[in-house]
Amino acid sequence: MEERATVPVLLASLFDQPFTYVLPDGGTLAPGTLVAAPLGNRLLAGAVWPGDIDRVDPAKLKSIADILPLPPLDERLISFVNWVADYTLVPRGQILRMVLRGVENFEPEAAMLAYRATGALPERMTPSREKVLATASGGMAWPKAALAREAQVTASVIDGLVTAGALEAVEVPAPPALTRPDPTHEPPALSPDQQSVAATLRTLPGAGFSVSLLDGVTGSGKTEVYFEAVAEAVAQGRSVLILLPEIALTGQFLDRFEARFGERPGEWHSQVSPKKRAKIWRALMEGRGGVIVGARSALFLPFRDLGLIVVDEEHDAAYKQEEQAIYHARDMAVVRARIEDVPVILSSATPSVESRANCELGRYTRLELPERYGEARRPDIKAVDLREHPPETGRFLSQPAVEALSAAVQRGEQGLLFLNRRGYAPLTLCRRCGFRFDCPNCTAWLVEHRFRGELVCHHCGHRHKVPKHCPSCDAEDSLVACGPGVERIAEEVAERFPGLRYTILSSDMAPGIRILREKLAAIERGEVDLVIGTQIVAKGHDFPGMTAVVVVDGDIGLAASDPRAAERSFQTLEQVVGRAGRRGGLSHGLIQTYQPDHPVMRAIVAQDREAFYASEIALRREARLAPFGRLAAIIVSGKERGETESYARAIARSAPRVENVDVLGPAEAALAIIRGRSRFRLLVKAPRQFDLPTFLRGWLAAAPSPRGSLRLAVDIDPVSFL
Ligand code: ADP
Ligand code: ZN
Repeated sequence: MEERATVPVLLASLFDQPFTYVLPDGGTLAPGTLVAAPLGNRLLAGAVWPGDIDRVDPAKLKSIADILPLPPLDERLISFVNWVADYTLVPRGQILRMVLRGVENFEPEAAMLAYRATGALPERMTPSREKVLATASGGMAWPKAALAREAQVTASVIDGLVTAGALEAVEVPAPPALTRPDPTHEPPALSPDQQSVAATLRTLPGAGFSVSLLDGVTGSGKTEVYFEAVAEAVAQGRSVLILLPEIALTGQFLDRFEARFGERPGEWHSQVSPKKRAKIWRALMEGRGGVIVGARSALFLPFRDLGLIVVDEEHDAAYKQEEQAIYHARDMAVVRARIEDVPVILSSATPSVESRANCELGRYTRLELPERYGEARRPDIKAVDLREHPPETGRFLSQPAVEALSAAVQRGEQGLLFLNRRGYAPLTLCRRCGFRFDCPNCTAWLVEHRFRGELVCHHCGHRHKVPKHCPSCDAEDSLVACGPGVERIAEEVAERFPGLRYTILSSDMAPGIRILREKLAAIERGEVDLVIGTQIVAKGHDFPGMTAVVVVDGDIGLAASDPRAAERSFQTLEQVVGRAGRRGGLSHGLIQTYQPDHPVMRAIVAQDREAFYASEIALRREARLAPFGRLAAIIVSGKERGETESYARAIARSAPRVENVDVLGPAEAALAIIRGRSRFRLLVKAPRQFDLPTFLRGWLAAAPSPRGSLRLAVDIDPVSFL
């Protein structure tokens, strides 16, 4: 039989290894070439992948169906995919799928229609028609909407002029998906502190791989300062990737970017339309780069000329993707920067303990902005001891909190009430028989959302109407709400401050990004007196008029028992009180707590972040936690509890014994059941130098594989311990 030309193709699916395909027209394809290839009776996207070809009977091989008319993926991007897959134990094809997201709506770039004057005059002339022809008289071709806007007429007037022969449609190239920002457009006047940090940052683009931690208190102007590094990379003709943890932040960010650089950056997150994403993706594939601002998925974009990566709010847990491919976008950004040989800037007012420790270890360079910019001063922060100032029964705000808020509002300023709990009440029970509403699918109480009149599970989405009668004892009107959520705080605000303008900022109250951006803009413009919000308000927003911040329950995070509870609590509280006093004058942060002597509370009240980091780093070093050691979680789940537990035990028994590597568990997870699946966890602890992914791969390859409803997931560097 004659020899046929074959290539290895990695499909964007759940496989780790490339498959061999026939090239129908012979020849070869460069690694990274994008193709469509059949698998079973489906056609999948994939890429020609460097590596071994599997030995398959040549007669059974299938042919590649299509070759995409695009330059091949960059070899550094291929290395990145391989690296991430190896490290996270996620199949290569699944990581490739994140790279090929933009291909889903791939279509040839369509030209756009534009209209220009032919010189002929229509038989019937009207004032509207005259305006259009006057506007189009310069010989330029106008997009229809722009021409109508400029001439202040409706689009039908233009259609009429085309029919009449006075305008003609011509094809013009579509506007570029990405525009080059102008690095010299509007540089800010930097303070001396800012200047010295900016000077260092400006030297980074073009000088190879490095990691800098921009560690500056809230309001110190970190964005303005790292924009200087962005400007430098852009001036060198390179692309820049800026990661933000929360798409709610992008609105204000895009405006600031435009003010500094005269152009808007490309936007990449789940709320951008697939068509727009496809355009950006294609522009990058074709080497027409720019600046991209995006969520963690932007990390997998096919940049060809990357010059800098910025990870803003680098401490944020939203960078950890917890489903399907489990990876940490901040850590993988550092990896991509290393492979691309470019600098990465991690920015935060409350850096992760890992990043601070990496600075101490000399791996990262720490750049500090210790003061707020300009007139702005840090708020005066106090813990309100709830044992001394108990709220009235059925209420949740203490006297000092109410006073601080009303004082701010009376001065025409804004207040913020922070409670990281959506809905009305976290628990509903029957006052007569004690029945509690829990989720049939999860180990969790149902949360009352009074606004929607529903009880909702925040883990699986199970919901039903709030019943009139207790489902257990049938008593009428016997249900009581226990504890507060933001909706209940809003109710108290409405009672205490009649006539006040308040708004709730919570992900479920603003389902679309547009509504959320409008709400944020209204707050910025001062159209709201009080903001009541969940963690969404703790993230980097700049609210100029806000001078009083109240944390309703400062103890929520401290109750958690995982190794990161203190760090997470510190970050949230510090970020929330940091929303106050961004424009000078006195401002206040009040934290309601039953534990005013907790080290986290003390560090925040005394504004002694250094003491906090020093003690957390010491604890991590002692416990051999990251970055002083390595941790991985193995999560086993299944439909039957007994079967799941025995499988988790079998996995534990099959662990290879290696000195200094501890396998702990299995233990039933704190969230023992999610979506009807029982969950058990194992924890693996190893020294820093140890190659944990290779160890895990070897172990799991030899361990019994999950059967039936059983599933096994590996979480390297876990952030959540639930
Ligand atoms: P951070 O990100 O450190 O919390 P921001 O970058 O949001 O701080 O800056 C806080 C506020 O101060 C913003 O409104 C910003 O525009 C303003 N600001 C900071 N530095 C300057 C500067 N050099 N010139 C003008 N405004 C500045
Ligand atoms: Zn549930």
